[in-house]
Amino acid sequence: MVDQNARLAIIGGGMGGLAAAIALRRIVGVRATVFEQASQLGEVGAGVTVAPNAARVLDRLGVLDGIRRVGAVPDGHGVYLNAMGGMVTDAAWEDTAKQYQNIGMYRPDLIDALAAEVDPDAVRLGHRLTSVETVESGVRVEFDNGVTEVFDAVIGADGIHSVVRQAVEQHPEPVYSGYIVYRGVMDASRLPEDWPMISQVWMGNRRHFMCYPLQQRKLFNFVAGIPSERPLNGPWSGPAEVSELAAEFAGDGWDPRLQHFIGLIDKTFWWGLFDHEPLTNWSRGPITLLGDAAHTMLPHQGQGVNQAIEDSSALATFLASADEVADIPEAFRRYTAVRMQRTAILQNGSRRAGAMFDAQYEFADLAKRDADIRVGRDFRRSAVFDYDAQKVAEQALGRFRKVTHA
Ligand SMILES: Cc1cc2nc3c(=O)[nH]c(=O)nc-3n(C[C@H](O)[C@H](O)[C@H](O)COP(=O)(O)OP(=O)(O)OC[C@H]3O[C@@H](n4cnc5c(N)ncnc54)[C@H](O)[C@@H]3O)c2cc1C
Repeated sequence: MVDQNARLAIIGGGMGGLAAAIALRRIVGVRATVFEQASQLGEVGAGVTVAPNAARVLDRLGVLDGIRRVGAVPDGHGVYLNAMGGMVTDAAWEDTAKQYQNIGMYRPDLIDALAAEVDPDAVRLGHRLTSVETVESGVRVEFDNGVTEVFDAVIGADGIHSVVRQAVEQHPEPVYSGYIVYRGVMDASRLPEDWPMISQVWMGNRRHFMCYPLQQRKLFNFVAGIPSERPLNGPWSGPAEVSELAAEFAGDGWDPRLQHFIGLIDKTFWWGLFDHEPLTNWSRGPITLLGDAAHTMLPHQGQGVNQAIEDSSALATFLASADEVADIPEAFRRYTAVRMQRTAILQNGSRRAGAMFDAQYEFADLAKRDADIRVGRDFRRSAVFDYDAQKVAEQALGRFRKVTHA
């Protein structure tokens, strides 16, 4: 096992960076330093689903109970509906063993729950990374406040516009997908008493609307995907008018229940959706990537954070197999080989899920689209929710060792 005094830096104190700090501490025994550009740890006031595949990781790390306490486990399976509210299919919401369920999380609550498990002395706020380069004594990182330090290894968890990614390879930047989402949360006490405490998705022609409960059911999250011509060379999120959102789902072609829900919303903001072809490499020597920095994906399978959490467990498992600092590049290379295959499937799957929800491209026939959605339900449970990131990493380690010793 790599020395407990190994100097590891994580760039980015988002959900991926914090999950990595916890996993490195619990699985490898190393306290990594987390550098975050913001002056405090935080997140936008919206929702996110912790899926069974990430709940499994968080449970092993000993942090799931705290997350469940502040999240919302739905009453049962979710539903996919057509625009008029007719049932298309039920939606997977737990793993096959029925051990882990989807948990609706208010993002600031998830950050707080993860941050509570990280040594505050290991988090350096107000540090925006400007450059990273390999030098003889390790990896030199430089921040906009003038601080420069050298670490044995650096993990880039600095999100979609990652600076660390550019030190690994000249990757093309993520591209705007042509879709925006309106997002937000509403006070659940506004909803009718019989409003189902489950996830619901209405799918129309070229747009969809999703909602689910958060924060012990005190809040309800919503996300509406809409095609947009909005030029995104400036800001890629901002406040929006609720009337703009309501207009997208107005008229006789939409379920009056959905229109009632939208009528209760008092605040929303828009967000441009970015997509990325799977990268060809995530690691260069003692530098690697994790989370959106490595695999920006569309949100249509709700797997961005969940994949970052899977990454953290796999990364720590591979690092735990390194005997010394000199072995870290090989551990990163193995981590990359295993994780890139998994996340590329989800990047492509998320793009396809978006095409189905929004009936674009070849899905002009809505009846066919509905049939595809029904088939996708079972894939989601077995291939996405049942996946055990740590077990897969351990099995891969065994195979790598056989090759090394052959
Ligand atoms: C509409 C929408 C809905 C979504 N829903 C889901 C969902 O239900 N489930 C799910 O799993 N995912 C969902 N996602 C995706 C999810 O939000 C992302 O995948 C996730 O936030 C990625 O986490 P991360 O830690 O890798 O990156 P981020 O959350 O982007 O964190 C990166 C951190 O790095 C910091 N940083 C950036 N640059 C620097 C720098 N140069 N120096 C220092 N610090 C830096 C940032 O300030 C930030 O704190 C959704 C996304 C969208 C847009």
